[in-house]
Amino acid sequence: MKQYSLAIHGGAGAISRKKMTEEKSCAYRAALSDALAEAENILLRGGTALEAVEKAVMNMEDSPLFNAGKGAVYTHEGKHEMDAAIMCGKTLDAGAVSLISTIRNPIVLAKTILERSEHIFLAGEGAMEFAKQENIAFEDAAWFNTEFRFNSLQKAKMKQKIELDHNEREDKYGTVGAVALDQYGNLAAATSTGGMTNKRFGRIGDSPLIGIGTYANNKTCAISCTGKGEDFIRAMVAYDISCLMEYKGFSLEAASRFVVQSKLPVKSGGLIAVDSKGNIVMPFNSEGMYRASVSNSKAKEVFIFQP
Ligand code: ASP
Repeated sequence: MKQYSLAIHGGAGAISRKKMTEEKSCAYRAALSDALAEAENILLRGGTALEAVEKAVMNMEDSPLFNAGKGAVYTHEGKHEMDAAIMCGKTLDAGAVSLISTIRNPIVLAKTILERSEHIFLAGEGAMEFAKQENIAFEDAAWFNTEFRFNSLQKAKMKQKIELDHNEREDKYGTVGAVALDQYGNLAAATSTGGMTNKRFGRIGDSPLIGIGTYANNKTCAISCTGKGEDFIRAMVAYDISCLMEYKGFSLEAASRFVVQSKLPVKSGGLIAVDSKGNIVMPFNSEGMYRASVSNSKAKEVFIFQP
């Protein structure tokens, strides 16, 4: 069997070890394992990295546990504005969407843009119009509601601040992403998010920005980030890691450690990445990051905190 590697995340932030119950931990682990297994199946059956990362992210978008698709956080006005991106490391083709609502799986819309649009990034009304033309699945706004996220908004409003969806409170967790290397040697990355609780409408984070929250290039690596978007945008995280590898000869491990530990502010988040040889790294500088990985040479691992 040729090399394949796969990693996924379900958000990084202040996930308190003390407050993590056995029940919650089991629920996250099961959700991560399920998404990982579905995507691994695609790779095992000869599917592409692009198909695998789309499937993993779709799976987590459908889970109310994560801040993407169903379960996305609320804007200040009590609405959902979702962002997503996907990128193919072989062709450098990408599809990204921002400021969309009522699209069941934002990542499917992003992949459709990659495949069927002359553009890379569509936002707001234009993205929604494209989705209708392409028969992308919509849901009522109510389908995205979760009591838990609604309560988070009320608490955040009371505190009069914009919160990272999982920052400071253990009832907050997040954004989803996936990276993969397939049997044909191709890399892909995908990320999907509701952004930050109580965000101003029109705010766009790092997740849909190619080269920042999402990036894939067969020459180097595939990356999906999670954390405080504004910090990731300032540090140009994903492309910076790729550049350190391409122009400075850094290993994936060294490049991502440098960017996460030395360029990002402390406690801003983390990322998952895989290189063209199949090495996987999942560094973060926050308290925890929901994550899981598997490859043809390494059995499934699921983590929430530092091992
Ligand atoms: N990076 C996302 C954003 O800022 C949030 C997250 O990863 O939880 O929109």
